[in-house]
Amino acid sequence: MRYREIPHGKEKVGVIGLGTVYYHHSDLTEVERTVRTALSHGVNYFDMIVEREEAFLSYAKAWEGVPRSAYAIQMHFGAVYENGPYGWTRDLDRIKGAIQKQMQMLKIEYADMGYVHCIDEEEDFRHVMRHGLWDYMKGMKADGKIRHLGCSTHNPDILRRFLDTGLIDMAMFSVNMAYDYASDGPYAIGNRENRYRLYQECESAGVGLSVMKPFGGRRLLDERISPFHCAFTTNQCIQYALDRPAVLTVLPGVPNAEYLKRALAFLEASEEERDYAKLADVTPEKIEGTCVYCNHCLPCPKGLNIGLINKYYDLARVGDALAAQHYQNLEGKANACVACKHCEKRCPFHVKQEARMKEIAQYFKEEPVQR
Ligand code: SF4
Ligand code: SF4
Repeated sequence: MRYREIPHGKEKVGVIGLGTVYYHHSDLTEVERTVRTALSHGVNYFDMIVEREEAFLSYAKAWEGVPRSAYAIQMHFGAVYENGPYGWTRDLDRIKGAIQKQMQMLKIEYADMGYVHCIDEEEDFRHVMRHGLWDYMKGMKADGKIRHLGCSTHNPDILRRFLDTGLIDMAMFSVNMAYDYASDGPYAIGNRENRYRLYQECESAGVGLSVMKPFGGRRLLDERISPFHCAFTTNQCIQYALDRPAVLTVLPGVPNAEYLKRALAFLEASEEERDYAKLADVTPEKIEGTCVYCNHCLPCPKGLNIGLINKYYDLARVGDALAAQHYQNLEGKANACVACKHCEKRCPFHVKQEARMKEIAQYFKEEPVQR
């Protein structure tokens, strides 16, 4: 497993976590088996939306004997299971009861992440802020029962409203190529520019993203239903999400341990297998000339990490001081570019990288390197 650090916390979370396990109702043992499989592969980040309430017990069983500090849980304030299956509410008393019960079933004293659950409308946001839920969650944080506050949403503007509170450290957001480039489906809220700006704003604010719907509800994996009329692989979808600013972990929802292993195969996949450059073929007019940080253009003869240099530059330009600092810590910087244009020949998005490297070097006031 590869791990990334929560900016406002320093805990390290695996780049692949576990989303909902969609188990067959007659076979609850599958949930336990999937969670154990996750743990044995270094997964340490778990989303706690389940299909039916009894699944919480299966998680608790799988975690038995594992130190609590070895795994992180994101709990959803608003998800309820009053008659067994998943449901949701904005009623504060019902939320309080549900969270207490879930924590008891999970045998945990605290939630690593406490998320306001699935807010996509401004009206819901106002309700949460005015009718006690946010205050309740802040109180739980003060009492050490929540380590980090956050929210889950599909709507960039709602996430911005939470960013404006200055109190969140993490958020769950839907990130995939279909939502970013094809505006495909009801959860694809905001155009590409808006969504992309949001990723930058989260990174600048030190707010990490855990990713839901990394495969666009599996549509991206099947050419018959893909909005691009071609299929991408799980490896390509995961790499795409992990390349967006602020993203720390991708949480695929799976029906069983075998599906989880397919997602975890990402960790052993080659660069070619993770390369999503064919996105350029299916979205030519939207992406032309824009660096998407895919690193398809590597290797650079000067050893430059072209994707990362471009990502830090874009973030620095919108005021992200930390990204500017990260840039300064890179071993190879833009001024080392020898203008060979090797990358330009390989870039499927036709980015004029040589000119961009000059621009980046100027921005960071770098002296030309003696060649
Ligand atoms: S220059 Fe092109 S190939 Fe290289 S990282 Fe950017 S978009 Fe990808
Ligand atoms: S043009 Fe610059 S960045 Fe691109 S491959 Fe050549 S040296 Fe590397």
